[in-house]
Amino acid sequence: MNSVSMLEALFSVKYDEIKPFLVPKEKVDKHLAVPKGRTVNVWVVIEGLSELLIRHEGADDVTEFEVNGITVPGILNTKFQAVARRQMLRTLYAFKERNTDKMKELYELAKKYGISTAETLKDWTCYLTPGARSQAKKSEEVMKGGYCMTCPNCMIYGYVAGEGGVYNVKSRVEGDVYFGLCPSKLCVVKRTFNAVDDVTKTTIMESGETGALFTLSLIEPGTIFVGKLALRDLSPAELLLVLHSIAKVDRIGGRVTHFGRIKVHIPVITFDYFEMGSGYELAKALVGDKKVGMEEAINKITEMAKGRVIVQKRNLGDELRGLGTEELDEITYEAWKDVLTFKASIESLIFGR
Ligand SMILES: [Zn+2]
Repeated sequence: MNSVSMLEALFSVKYDEIKPFLVPKEKVDKHLAVPKGRTVNVWVVIEGLSELLIRHEGADDVTEFEVNGITVPGILNTKFQAVARRQMLRTLYAFKERNTDKMKELYELAKKYGISTAETLKDWTCYLTPGARSQAKKSEEVMKGGYCMTCPNCMIYGYVAGEGGVYNVKSRVEGDVYFGLCPSKLCVVKRTFNAVDDVTKTTIMESGETGALFTLSLIEPGTIFVGKLALRDLSPAELLLVLHSIAKVDRIGGRVTHFGRIKVHIPVITFDYFEMGSGYELAKALVGDKKVGMEEAINKITEMAKGRVIVQKRNLGDELRGLGTEELDEITYEAWKDVLTFKASIESLIFGR
């Protein structure tokens, strides 16, 4: 089954209905390099499964915002997106492992297109190498080069070219904040731990002194967060690969295994020529002095989500997580070809080829 048939099956729509809001990438064309603004609006509900950590110093995994004059916890999209990127890289590495022949074909295609970074496909690796972190550390090239500047992850989520890179690519996945639907005073608790706590196995204390006590603010399990992502100018395969990476995000804050487990629900997706609605508008409609549950949140999203085509599917997240190896390989292979066509199109525009 190709990506188009998979989209039709997952969304219960005819491809012709959603095609105007996607950008298929069939052949190299410098017009492909110009943003079209075609938008897939993805409404996301994040369910906290374990306690989520609010860090008060340094990098915040979860932070706090004010909505309707009420302080609520929130998850920054930069945090969420970092995990989604890692999930996508995992999919790409798994594909590489299973499909040596197809990776060779992609390398040949990149060379045929004359893509400036074609040689990186000879033995492809990219910035974050999940499950191969130690190898990445050993490899000068990976450390120095950072992003490969060629793969679906780089071409969809964007990259900033390091030394030697000629141009940056902007992310086609945009989001801001996932707002907690519960006043902090009702769902954030302070707990005191020992610095050598068996559960956390980490020295969160900067001093690292043993036996010292420290306090963390934790968001109670069951807290619901809502937000929205705008996906721009994606091909059918790129869309599926991004949605899969979003659905697969299962934690926020990776250092301590005990905290941060989440589940992502994608109850509504809308297609349009613009970004429609925002997580903040939704939060404003929902945040009050009581804790809001999943049903109420999803009902409100269904009520507020606007677009020329609206797909409502409660279990879309589960279905995306449940995609089989064969389906994922098909999506990944198509997405690889699409981003190579996209990159060749950008270079055709920039270098006047
Ligand atoms: Zn890459």
